[in-house]
Amino acid sequence: MVGRAHPTSAMKDIIERQRMFFAGGETKSLAFRIEMLKTLRQAILSHEADIFAALEQDLNKSRVDAYSSEIGSCLAEISYVLKHLKQWVKPQRVRSSWLFPLSRARILSEPLGLSLILAPWNYPFRLAIAPVIAAMAAGNCVVLKPSELSSHTEALLAKLIAQHFPEHYISVVCGGADCAQDLLQQRFDYIFYTGGPKVGQLVMKAAAAHTTPVTLELGGKSPCIVDENCDISRTAKRIAWGKFLNAGQTCVAPDYLLVHQKVKAKLIEEIYNWIIAFYGERPLDSPDYARIINEQHFERLSALLSDGKLVYGGKTEREALYISPTLMEDVPAEAPLMQEEIFGPILPILEFEDLSQAIELINQRPKPLALYIFSSDRQTQQRIIAQTSSGGVCVNDTIIHLSVSSLPFGGVGASGFGRYHGKAGFETFSNTKSVLYQTTLFDIPQRFPPARPSDLKLLRRLLK
Ligand code: NAD
Repeated sequence: MVGRAHPTSAMKDIIERQRMFFAGGETKSLAFRIEMLKTLRQAILSHEADIFAALEQDLNKSRVDAYSSEIGSCLAEISYVLKHLKQWVKPQRVRSSWLFPLSRARILSEPLGLSLILAPWNYPFRLAIAPVIAAMAAGNCVVLKPSELSSHTEALLAKLIAQHFPEHYISVVCGGADCAQDLLQQRFDYIFYTGGPKVGQLVMKAAAAHTTPVTLELGGKSPCIVDENCDISRTAKRIAWGKFLNAGQTCVAPDYLLVHQKVKAKLIEEIYNWIIAFYGERPLDSPDYARIINEQHFERLSALLSDGKLVYGGKTEREALYISPTLMEDVPAEAPLMQEEIFGPILPILEFEDLSQAIELINQRPKPLALYIFSSDRQTQQRIIAQTSSGGVCVNDTIIHLSVSSLPFGGVGASGFGRYHGKAGFETFSNTKSVLYQTTLFDIPQRFPPARPSDLKLLRRLLK
């Protein structure tokens, strides 16, 4: 592990040693990858108490939230990968062209080499480890830089990885923006970044210098449409859960609601009821309600509270970095609350009369990471899916689509590009190599010079 001072020479040394180790070819073997993934699983299991403690210190995460959205989801991802990896690494047989009789065509997946993973603070364990799982499955070496803002988890990740893996295979580098910039100056074979769009652009710029491919897992304003045809109480429950989980600091949290005007009042009342059912009258005292990561984000979010009419909540405690679950309406479209990703426990509620208005509003904005539809009408569901673009869609629930390992996860447009989870993660960190085995038994004479007048005629017949 390279500590906070992160001297560039130490960083370079690790990268050099990783290159040598990778060149030795050990990470390519299936047995090695399986053994290492099992080691990671064991490391997570044996550090469970430390992970709970770090997440509580960084974000006041309850154990249940920490287990379901961080620890358990990583363990489930490892199990999924272990179950399928043997199949994924097999060369894939594909049909060759009839132009080359007796030739065979195969697609191989080979590791890219050294990957740099830059992780954010909001799910600081899972969003660091999940891409590491994908990189390991594909046979890569990894340099991981967790977010410095979730400092307890950052320190724990450094300890856990250093205890269980040699530096020349996986290494954690700790530090802030300067450290990330130093890392980005080095040459990697892949860069996987999760975080905000501004830094995402810097990552892409730095990657361009070495022509390094990147994945950008960004965020944005994920809309949530509530149609008049749905079970309002269940809808409200699932929205309140998805929005106020981790105090709204979730990249796929419903950012704002677009509710049919006929059901708006009822929905607000039900969300309010569910907030109280989940966190009590004083969420400040609830062990299940998270805190804002730091003062800077607390200030940013507090300023947004004046952007419209407060319907519920709006309570803040600077000392505790606490902002209560908050519902707002009458928010002007040009207000910051409706312009920037909220990434906190404030939920603006907009209404529509006709579904076209909701679809138009979504399409006028940058493409979101997730889009939520609450409707029992299949035609309405299909219409919204067909007429909007987003990284993913979840119908009649929030957030849970990203825990389905068989569904690739990622953004589109402003919400990023590239995919991971399950096989998509394996493919992201692999080079898909096409191999053609030609027969040595014969040649088709027309292929070679000198050309005969009839050759062109034949070619015209064959290639059309
Ligand atoms: P961030 O961009 O501030 O930080 C992410 C990483 O980039 C950290 O490791 C940080 O140290 C590093 N970094 C910071 N400044 C840098 C610089 N100048 N140069 C290079 N690296 C730098 O992001 P954040 O605030 O931690 O995360 C919040 C954002 O991430 C939100 O927009 C959220 O939607 C998004 N997000 C997306 C996903 C996803 O899976 N798509 C998941 C979580 C968060």
